[in-house]
Amino acid sequence: MNELKRTPIYAILSGFSPADLPGVGTFYDFFDRLWPAVDKNLRPRMQHKRKGKKKGKKKGEKAPTTTPGRVERLVKWMMRHTDKPTVLPADRLFHFFQSQILSVSANLGLLGDISALSAAGDGTPVVTSAYPRSKPTCDCRARGIADCDHHRLYSQPDCNSGWDSAREKYFNGYHLYMISAADSKHDLPLYPRLHPASRHDAVSLVMSTVEFKQRFALGTVDKMLLDAAHDAESIYLLLTHQGMEPFIDLNVRSKRNTASKGVVRFRFHPQGFRFAQTEIQ
Ligand SMILES: [Zn+2]
Repeated sequence: MNELKRTPIYAILSGFSPADLPGVGTFYDFFDRLWPAVDKNLRPRMQHKRKGKKKGKKKGEKAPTTTPGRVERLVKWMMRHTDKPTVLPADRLFHFFQSQILSVSANLGLLGDISALSAAGDGTPVVTSAYPRSKPTCDCRARGIADCDHHRLYSQPDCNSGWDSAREKYFNGYHLYMISAADSKHDLPLYPRLHPASRHDAVSLVMSTVEFKQRFALGTVDKMLLDAAHDAESIYLLLTHQGMEPFIDLNVRSKRNTASKGVVRFRFHPQGFRFAQTEIQ
């Protein structure tokens, strides 16, 4: 509101005359329309204290997929439930994004061949605060009990802490998982989705791709390109089930590879390609 007043270009971009701005209440009414849910968060504010497990992680390494079983269970659950579309609070925002932005890009040919799109999926950290903020709901501390397991009240319950493999540090916030159009030089986003920071790329992909498939109405995605963090059997299964051909980097940690210089190796997989690319030295 204040910004619109001070920066007329924001007012004009928002469709207002700088001399005739709506009142603050109107903005709140408008926000409510964009997020048609009673709670402004996806997760409850009352949560147990999270106990961070510090794992030894090396530079550039993705968080270890220590729970391939978890990804597999999620995939199986998703494959049973994909026919019943879920309703998400962010649906109206995506509808707006698809009808007013994606469709324009598609018509201009900026997304590539819309009848056979190649998409890529990857996650990136979004830092929101230096520390997760929470208040106790009990008085254990005052009574001298140091480490209780009662609920705490979190001010940003959809955020938590996760490992940033590029910067080699933990961070608090979200994990922005982006499905983008990979066939054109523009790499435009198709489905941006915020997940909690702790969520692994593979888990984020499974949720994002199922949600995206249910909502994307402008064309067909027939190839999905993913990095080694997604190299799990169940992900091949899910993407194939969704009618996409998976292209996934080999995970050098889970599979033993004999790297040969300057060679691009393809390993055939019943449900797509697995490929490993070694740099020419
Ligand atoms: Zn307590």
